[in-house]
Amino acid sequence: MPPERRWRSSGKKHDSAGNGLSAAGDRAFASGCLMGISQNACFKSIQDNQFGTSALTCRKMASKLYSEFQQPNIERIRPVTQNTEPETRGRKPASGNRPFIIPIFLTHAGCPHRCVFCNQAPITGIKQNGITPQNLRTRITEFLKYKDKKRKPIQIAFFGGNFLGIKISEIKSLLAEAAEFVNQGFVDSIRFSTRPDTIDPGRLSLIQNFPVSTIELGVQSMDDRVLSFAHRGHKSSDTGRAVQLLKKQNYEIGLQIMVGLPGDNPAETLKTGYRIVGLAPDFVRIYPTLVLAGSPLAKWYQKGKYAPLSLEECVTQVKNLYLLFKKNNIRVIRMGLQASEDLEDGSSLLAGPYHPAFGHLVHSEIFFDLAVQALESANILGDQAVISVHPGSVSKMRGLKNENIRKIKQQVHLQSIVIKADSAIAEDNLILSL
Ligand code: SF4
Repeated sequence: MPPERRWRSSGKKHDSAGNGLSAAGDRAFASGCLMGISQNACFKSIQDNQFGTSALTCRKMASKLYSEFQQPNIERIRPVTQNTEPETRGRKPASGNRPFIIPIFLTHAGCPHRCVFCNQAPITGIKQNGITPQNLRTRITEFLKYKDKKRKPIQIAFFGGNFLGIKISEIKSLLAEAAEFVNQGFVDSIRFSTRPDTIDPGRLSLIQNFPVSTIELGVQSMDDRVLSFAHRGHKSSDTGRAVQLLKKQNYEIGLQIMVGLPGDNPAETLKTGYRIVGLAPDFVRIYPTLVLAGSPLAKWYQKGKYAPLSLEECVTQVKNLYLLFKKNNIRVIRMGLQASEDLEDGSSLLAGPYHPAFGHLVHSEIFFDLAVQALESANILGDQAVISVHPGSVSKMRGLKNENIRKIKQQVHLQSIVIKADSAIAEDNLILSL
């Protein structure tokens, strides 16, 4: 079904053949002034990228991402299926549902050393190390009181350290305590994050009788040079091997990656994205590299050895990764760090691309790109444009404090832009009418 066609100057609605358009309308319509664009469709061209040259800059990549729409074509307008989820298998939770997470932060527990960018205390807001089974029980019980009845599944999540790096006796006692809540039917499953080099047959057999459904790996990069700069102490091959082992045992797999690490660049970061796509995890998280007080990176920053990305650069790189994962039906469950008091008041954040609404900035830039692309293809000047988006996407289209509107008007020399909500439009599409 072709999209509805509108011609603002006449106020009439028209059929897909353009019947009833004025002469001016016909001209504008023929030049593609009325178009809908989806984010997924923007990715066809990047599939061909061979990354054969280190001189390939982020800017060139970004223009390549969107080059498909330089010559607008109504045939390309297709609704995008939102939340295309991989088939749910075995022990994995239904991935389409947003779980209710009971977070248990094990600040740096099990870490073999300190990675250069890391200081979990300001990220998690938790200062103490470790947790006793008694504390764990109390915390889970407290959290369950606040559960929204609609949220399913309920998961106990061990974050903020290297779960499979802690002592075997502690792993067992924490999992046993958490499993009690699963056995009693209060919780559905357990999840944790751990380093790729802690995944081996021995540790997996240790946890196999506990109700663990989801394992997240701190991958950070698939570039061994970048991993070495970050003092990670593992290689990309460890990640590949870990993912294969987890797949064999049918765990839901999440991979965490970082943007702006020392020694990294936009082309290499996107290469990491492609290698992550090749591993086909169930979901990813994308974090910016921040300069946190107390981290080794803070010393490098103070000595002038490391310069963080600007917020704008970081948003653009994360946007390109997001579009890549989306195209490949890999859920992106987080972009940017969760706001914490320490990050918000700046006491622990020395520098770097932190924003409490980082994900919103990424989505806003995607809508900005789509709108500019549509408007430039329409080749109009000085008039008014109407951009219709799904009601849930209006704020993304507008950008924070209407920044997108201001920038679009400036870039394409428009006097006025009207944003309309239309629930018939897919959440990642827009329809432009003039
Ligand atoms: S990144 Fe992970 S392994 Fe490295 S110090 Fe932080 S919590 Fe520990």
